[in-house]
Amino acid sequence: MKILVANLGSTSFKFRLFEMDGEGERVLAKGGYERVEDFGKVISEALEGLVRDGHLESVDDLEAVGFKTVLGKDLSGCVPADDKALAALDGLAQIAPAHNPAYANGIRQFSRLTKARLVALFETSFYQWIPETARRYAVPESWYEAGIRRYGFHGASHKFIAERSAEMLGRSDIGERVRNLYTEGPGEEPEGKPLRVVSCHLGGSSSVTGILNGVAIGTSMGLSPQSGLPQNNRVGDLDSMAIPMAMNELGLSMEEVLRDLTRQGGLLGLSGVSNDLRDIDAAAADGNPRARLALDYLVASIRHWTGAYAFQMGGLDAIVFTAGIGENRADIRKGVCAGLEGFGLQLDTSKNQQPNTGERDIAASGSKIRVLVIPTNEERVVARETWRLMQKKKA
Ligand code: ADP
Repeated sequence: MKILVANLGSTSFKFRLFEMDGEGERVLAKGGYERVEDFGKVISEALEGLVRDGHLESVDDLEAVGFKTVLGKDLSGCVPADDKALAALDGLAQIAPAHNPAYANGIRQFSRLTKARLVALFETSFYQWIPETARRYAVPESWYEAGIRRYGFHGASHKFIAERSAEMLGRSDIGERVRNLYTEGPGEEPEGKPLRVVSCHLGGSSSVTGILNGVAIGTSMGLSPQSGLPQNNRVGDLDSMAIPMAMNELGLSMEEVLRDLTRQGGLLGLSGVSNDLRDIDAAAADGNPRARLALDYLVASIRHWTGAYAFQMGGLDAIVFTAGIGENRADIRKGVCAGLEGFGLQLDTSKNQQPNTGERDIAASGSKIRVLVIPTNEERVVARETWRLMQKKKA
């Protein structure tokens, strides 16, 4: 069965074509487009290219397309990307303006261009079982009923990390629990010692998730992808009173406030240099104090959330770094792990410095807490869940 996983941004379209072989899979092709204006055009170009290169016999050879949709009103999990899913995306487009309209548009284009089954795996899926204390804000009940709560994002990535870290730590029982989580739910708690992992997805957008026995107990992302850690150009945590204050003091309209918070904030806002850590790092090396602050702020924020989850889980067995920053930036990992020998965490500084060579344990041999670097594979999660939903439909 051939499944395409579509990754859509406001101006980008990336894809990966999988040949599914039961639970396993093989990547047949991948590609993408940047600075996209006409999504219909590039999607049909991509499909034609896959036929031309012999990966598909015809466009009809594609059985399913999986979408890593972000946030749905009253909808989560792995579901058909139908009118109900589109309504769920449209319903919260205002809360995830960089993500929801892009996916809604992509789904509409694919349904016009192919006969393939369309499947949506919401990024909120991994947080379906977090305790109520981690899901709620302290707002009046009417706000909660209106949908104002923590949803969490990067679910596909953190799920991948939950599964792979459990396997790397010798807990295949928990790996299996994670693999079946979306189809079977968490079920019974596994036997034996609890496995306490903090997963740090650090990229263009970033989040930290506490994972107990393979299941999320909380995450730094909240109602929208505008919370928790500083994002590339989006603000992280912010006191709600900052908005009326900025409007009064700076004379900004609500639209201008939202522009600043969604496009001029985060690491860009702090550094004044760039939304990319490589540029910020170069500026910091040149002595730019705001660039230095942005790097330090990111590290402090990761430590803040990691510490919170370690405490809530009664300890920590592993911290995992993933995504562009987590996989590549030894300086950020070193900052996060600094001075924690008393907690039983010690980095192997030379292993930490090695280039991104794939999955690795970079803790010192005597460290009680393991430090793992795991390249994330969100597409694999989407492909497998899409396959599972197709099997269920067929049965
Ligand atoms: P996205 O979330 O948009 O997929 P990434 O996961 O690629 O983005 O993360 C982007 C961030 O990761 C940027 O700040 C960038 O500086 C950093 N990054 C990505 N790749 C590398 C690399 N090879 N070396 C150093 N930093 C990198």
